[in-house]
Amino acid sequence: MKKKNPNNRKIISVGQIVSWLIVFLVAVWLFNKPAVKETTLGYSEFKQKVAAAEVSDLTVAPGEISGTYKNSEGKLVPFTTVRMEDPNLVQELSTAKVKFKAQPDRSWVGNVLFNLLWIVLLIGLWWFIFIRPQRSDGKSAMNFARSKAKLQDPSQQTVTFKDVAGCDEAKEELQDVIKFLKNPKKFQKLGGKLPKGVLLYGAPGTGKTLLAKAVAGEAGVSFFSASASEFVEMFVGVGAARVRDLFDQAKKNAPAIIFIDELDAVGRRRFAGIGGGHDEREQTLNQLLIELDGFESKQGIILMASTNRPDVLDPALIRPGRFDRHVSVPAPDLKGREEILHVHAKKVKLSDDVDLKQVAKGTPGFVGADLANVINEAAILAARADKEAVEKSDLDEAVERVLAGPQKKSRIISKHEQQIIAAHESGHTIVARLTNHSDPVHKVTIIPRGQALGYTLQLPLEDKFLTSKSELLDKLCILLAGRAAEEIVFGEITSGASDDLNKTMAYARKMVMELGMSEKLGPIALPNGEDSEVFLGRDLSRHNTLSEELARTIDEEILHLIKTSYDRAKQIIISHREAFDKLVATLLEKEVVEASEIDEILGLKPVVVEEQPQPSPTDSVKPEPKAPKATKPEAQQADLFE
Ligand code: ADP
Ligand code: ZN
Repeated sequence: MKKKNPNNRKIISVGQIVSWLIVFLVAVWLFNKPAVKETTLGYSEFKQKVAAAEVSDLTVAPGEISGTYKNSEGKLVPFTTVRMEDPNLVQELSTAKVKFKAQPDRSWVGNVLFNLLWIVLLIGLWWFIFIRPQRSDGKSAMNFARSKAKLQDPSQQTVTFKDVAGCDEAKEELQDVIKFLKNPKKFQKLGGKLPKGVLLYGAPGTGKTLLAKAVAGEAGVSFFSASASEFVEMFVGVGAARVRDLFDQAKKNAPAIIFIDELDAVGRRRFAGIGGGHDEREQTLNQLLIELDGFESKQGIILMASTNRPDVLDPALIRPGRFDRHVSVPAPDLKGREEILHVHAKKVKLSDDVDLKQVAKGTPGFVGADLANVINEAAILAARADKEAVEKSDLDEAVERVLAGPQKKSRIISKHEQQIIAAHESGHTIVARLTNHSDPVHKVTIIPRGQALGYTLQLPLEDKFLTSKSELLDKLCILLAGRAAEEIVFGEITSGASDDLNKTMAYARKMVMELGMSEKLGPIALPNGEDSEVFLGRDLSRHNTLSEELARTIDEEILHLIKTSYDRAKQIIISHREAFDKLVATLLEKEVVEASEIDEILGLKPVVVEEQPQPSPTDSVKPEPKAPKATKPEAQQADLFE
């Protein structure tokens, strides 16, 4: 369903019209500048005025005489008159005592040249504005609304899934897309839901572009790629025109994949930030949404995009029917890194002393692009030394070079920081495993993901709709265990626990103020101040309804909950120090430790730990209030302790 868009060319002419207008106005101004209101006198009239001595300021040019004369009211009026063959003129002028000056002759050649100068100037200006910038691009003036997308022909498509390593889950998720592109009709017949937009998200350099290319390669279709930042141009409307053009091109070449890199450059939430929207970006985003809605996946086009900030995207973009498939492309783990190294090592000759597994071990935090870089650097080093093959020493040196690269410092984690993170996560893990009312620990890792430097994943065994006080107390304890572990091991605390602390505060406040789980206060629920800024129960909206004393008790109860939970977490870690240290070491070695191994380290049978003195048997299970917007049963969700 090709919609011919009449606006397509308009955008081009808008730019042109504006520039022509400028040229026109300049020209008008230049030509009109000498325009002064003059009267034209007949020659005989002029002679009469000369005789009456009414003229002054005469300029006698070869073809024209100009000057001023006094009119009947005595005002000076500028005039011109055609100069006639009049040998007596000079005589008469001196008789009448009229001052005059003569202007030298300007030949007709001079006149023509003078006028030509203006024309050349204007043409030059036009060339400077329109032709020159395009020339250097190899494009003509008409082309600046064309998309700069690069087309890769299916026949030249050489990237396949074999070239992408360490992201098997992402590949698995993209199988559908390939099946569909290979044979859209068959896919539909089998009742497959047609994919339309696929969003790949993950840190830079994890291979998102590579994956998209590989999908095109596997399916044998054309691949159009464009960077979203190319769409955000100086002139409003150009970006939108480019988006249109990109889709038009792809439709002509269907089946095809359109890949948009750095989608967040245009896809950021609209109306965000101070000062309102950004017109051009917004128009471009709107056009993208229109195109997304306007094409049918039946046409055999799949839109893919990559971003490392899925959280800032406009919600409209990720709505069903648009970019509704989200595929995570995480930083590779140890095994993944080894595989990626193997992929890139194929292109170079390795000496026998090289063990890529060892290299993978020494490169925590490296993404695919870093690893490709390591192999490349090593090959260069080996070549420089005239070696037959890349040796271990070259790889070691290359790792260091990539590590020291200025832009990587923030992403790649130092050994010392890794130790802190391992201790922090082990704290979460061990307390989660050793408390009775918490969900089973699924795995723990120190591979950074998103904002988190590491995480402990707990998965619930079954759906739950009620959360008990014991469960919440355990949760507080687990949340605080990361910070507790840091303090125990290093005697020093870091900023790594800030998210944990925020969550702890939220839970503790909820327990005291909404769920009536404080002993001192009893079963009270205070009006929910969800939308207002609440701070230790002392928020403004509640000032009127809470007595000073009640507010103070609330604060005390919240602080008490947090304090006792922190002490309990510390106590659990200290009393299992040996197992804890073992877990830290294992985590540092393997980066990911699964549930079974955690149990092994801890001696399988979970150790029962004393509850806090707080809960008495009768109040340990307290259903949450059954209000319609009652808090989501938190225990039901997977828990990530960062
Ligand atoms: P992104 O688009 O996620 O920023 P790219 O796909 O541009 O990353 O990756 C840049 C380069 O790094 C690729 O061309 C490839 O050589 C290498 N690379 C990245 N990830 C991988 C991977 N998973 N397997 C193999 N090579 C990779
Ligand atoms: Zn934590």
